[in-house]
Amino acid sequence: MKAAYFKNHGGLDNLQIGEVEQPQLKSNELLVETAYAALNHLDLFVLEGWPGLNLHIPHILGSDGSGVVKEIGGEIDAFKVGDKVLINPGISCGKCNYCLAGQQNLCADFSIKGEYFDGTFAEFFTIPEKNVLKIPDSISLKDAAAAPLTFLTAWRMMVTRAEVRPEEYVFIHGAGGGVSSAAIQIAKMLGAIVIATTSSEEKMKAAQDLGADHVINYKERNDFTDYVYKEITGKKGVDVVIDSVGKQTFPKSIKLLRPNGRFVTCGATTGPHVDLDIRHVFWKQLQILGSTMSNQKEFRDVMNIVFEGKIHPVVDKVFPLDQVKEAEKYLKKGNQFGKVLLSVNP
Ligand SMILES: [Zn+2]
Repeated sequence: MKAAYFKNHGGLDNLQIGEVEQPQLKSNELLVETAYAALNHLDLFVLEGWPGLNLHIPHILGSDGSGVVKEIGGEIDAFKVGDKVLINPGISCGKCNYCLAGQQNLCADFSIKGEYFDGTFAEFFTIPEKNVLKIPDSISLKDAAAAPLTFLTAWRMMVTRAEVRPEEYVFIHGAGGGVSSAAIQIAKMLGAIVIATTSSEEKMKAAQDLGADHVINYKERNDFTDYVYKEITGKKGVDVVIDSVGKQTFPKSIKLLRPNGRFVTCGATTGPHVDLDIRHVFWKQLQILGSTMSNQKEFRDVMNIVFEGKIHPVVDKVFPLDQVKEAEKYLKKGNQFGKVLLSVNP
């Protein structure tokens, strides 16, 4: 089958398109013919590699995907060939105390499809049955591929970790990112007042269309913290900051928070090491909360809301699988608003 894979870690030059063996189906898995796959920053981190990441080579990238069931394992009874499906990319052992307690993303063996296992940038992929949902007719295969990773991440950050309540101020960095465009919609659904930053007039409009109450162009207003503090929140500060940017935005995030505020991080796209004046943390009694992916229940909860049409995946651009390098370069530049997809067998 055709796939986007690499044999050696490194930059995008190491990413190739070519023929690889079709994956072997296990009894608890489905074989899916990929319609669309979505890009995530994780793709490039995996391609670059990190100490201890020992992958089976060649390794196929890709965490999000939608498609049509082609074959089912011997244990499967809830799906049939021809079903249209999307996937939860979070894979766990299913047997440990965390998994049995429904906290799959705390499992010691937790990983993301495309990280330790082959991913979705291929004509076919396999996936455990418990990680699959049927897509209702109201959702296109394109939107289905764009939804899971970002929506389940944003849902856990907003609902489980930050416990956002109505009328709270929620600040979201970089509205154009996949997690951020999901977070804006979820925060509005929870009744929050949403403040978002982005980098152009066009993206400001797109963030407002998703429901953001206040949108700031951070390129024109570099130090926006005073403005948010005084003008928007009436010298209160914000209740919650959602940050996947890391180093570049962390000091502003901490400054923006009001007493008892919650900082929630799910990533560090500009770098992982930050300056923290610990006095702000104890004096304002802040909570610094980490969040990664979601458990199976959170995945199902947020996907049901997507299926009901109350929140919508935002697709920026679709590239054919053959242009995976161009697509990854495009994502890296950061000019998109929403998800970048690959079409495989649409
Ligand atoms: Zn486990």
